[in-house]
Amino acid sequence: MIKVEHLYKKFGTNEVLKDITTEIKKGEVVSIIGPSGSGKSTFLRCLNMLEIPTSGTVVVNGQNLTGPKKDVQKIRQHIGMVFQHFHLFPHLTVLENLTYAPMKVKGEKKETAQEKARLLLKRVGLAEKEKAYPSSLSGGQKQRVAIARALAMEPDLMLFDEPTSALDPEMVKEVLDVMKDLAKSGMTMAVVTHEMGFAREVADRVIFLDHGVLVEEGQPAAFFNSPQTERARDFLEKVL
Ligand code: ADP
Ligand code: MG
Repeated sequence: MIKVEHLYKKFGTNEVLKDITTEIKKGEVVSIIGPSGSGKSTFLRCLNMLEIPTSGTVVVNGQNLTGPKKDVQKIRQHIGMVFQHFHLFPHLTVLENLTYAPMKVKGEKKETAQEKARLLLKRVGLAEKEKAYPSSLSGGQKQRVAIARALAMEPDLMLFDEPTSALDPEMVKEVLDVMKDLAKSGMTMAVVTHEMGFAREVADRVIFLDHGVLVEEGQPAAFFNSPQTERARDFLEKVL
């Protein structure tokens, strides 16, 4: 699904990603972890061209995002993204948040878009909130709407950037549960997270970044139980 080779990203002279090579297979759930400032968000953003890599290649679903001929809008239609701070449309109802892009970008009929949106709201446990505005929702509800909104575009791949970091502790689980269900349904997912429990239980693979370098990657059990590098050991000691 995703192939990243020798990816570099610089902001001015600040080299934020250094020679990242990895891949994510269809149906795989990969957790990206590492200290603050290590380049996790930048890496995720390079996967849907919210950041343009300085060099290297990123191929998503057979499309070379770093090649000469690319239709970024079209590629992005197939990639859902969920952010720490939800980014819902405040002036639209929950249902309208879900139907907006499918109607506008994909040209879906209102009835079709609404029908699918209602199923998705049911799936994230918010069927009764379709007429609500985002401001009336809790953080956990907002994030579940944001996930449903991303799914409304029927993406092949979902990117999550610290989806639970802005939530009150009691709301973390409801969002993680939705993400777990999604993982079980076979969705390909790249998840930047500080939730080590999620990484350990749900991810098929963990990628550990430090100072822009992919220091270690592997199956969660192996990574958490016996990290191979000093840097990973240090990090885990601080967060576990
Ligand atoms: P993380 O998500 O792991 O905390 P980021 O990818 O956000 O790390 O940031 C990695 C580094 O890149 C940091 O030093 C940050 O200041 C820098 N950075 C991120 N985005 C930008 C930007 N748009 N312009 C300049 N520097 C940036
Ligand atoms: Mg970040």
